[in-house]
Amino acid sequence: MNLRQSSVRIWLRQAVAVFLPPKFINGSLRILTYHRVRPDADDPRSITPQRFKEQLKVLKEGWRVVSLDDVLKAIEGKKILPQKAVLITFDDGYADLYEHAMPLLLEFGFSALVFMLARYVGRVGRTYSEANYPEAPFLSASQLQEMEKSGIEIGSHGLWHVPLSRLTIKEAEKEITESKRILSEILGKEIRAFSYPWGRAGDFGKEHVEMVAKAGYKVAFTMLHGLNKHPFEPFRLRRCHVYPWDDARLFKAILEGRFDGWCLKNSELWNQRKKLLRKLLMKSPMRDGSGRKF
Ligand SMILES: [Zn+2]
Repeated sequence: MNLRQSSVRIWLRQAVAVFLPPKFINGSLRILTYHRVRPDADDPRSITPQRFKEQLKVLKEGWRVVSLDDVLKAIEGKKILPQKAVLITFDDGYADLYEHAMPLLLEFGFSALVFMLARYVGRVGRTYSEANYPEAPFLSASQLQEMEKSGIEIGSHGLWHVPLSRLTIKEAEKEITESKRILSEILGKEIRAFSYPWGRAGDFGKEHVEMVAKAGYKVAFTMLHGLNKHPFEPFRLRRCHVYPWDDARLFKAILEGRFDGWCLKNSELWNQRKKLLRKLLMKSPMRDGSGRKF
């Protein structure tokens, strides 16, 4: 783990958790994003099963975990979400979710939504090549089927984990429709949810939002931080990333909305500056799952 980056982040998050006030809005939906759950967690996208369990306990005690069905009914106006509604999501689809996250979700009786990279099913690989992340196995077809039967819904995260805005219209369309087709075939059912690869401001545009709706998805999830207030924007749902250093106190602060006002990931200008900085520092370019630079 990049410890310098982590200690600054932890310090900032702790300060915000103490000084900013909580915010509750009736009928709203808080969505959590995780990536990997594994005992040897050593990067900002992985948390240990112990920490995950600690967070599930917090949810059990004071929040109401809802399913995608509940969210879709709320969007269609057929249902009102309970107070303090939370939806749990996982991006990328690494196999450790089957081994470590699913048993805990079942133990607590929680449903969840896993966004799978369709071209990575049953493979060994990595989604972020530049950051020295090791290769790891992704969920297999039979694991995906078993998870779906256990109440964990599978959505699409595209084919290759490339931000749609870096692709041509045709390529982006393929990411959206082809991934839906592949996963539908594996699971024998409709894929209803899409998660924009990278998902920050500037990683997808209005044209991609329209493509996702046209492809037949019912909802799409971003990495823009924040609370979803009623009426929801079904193809621009906001989520809150959970980090490995989020202990019970910081986790409660996320749920209470204490971080909602200050997240830089929401800003396109910030992302452009980051890209410029990367160029200036001569950092190696990112590569997608097929080895292409972007
Ligand atoms: Zn991802």
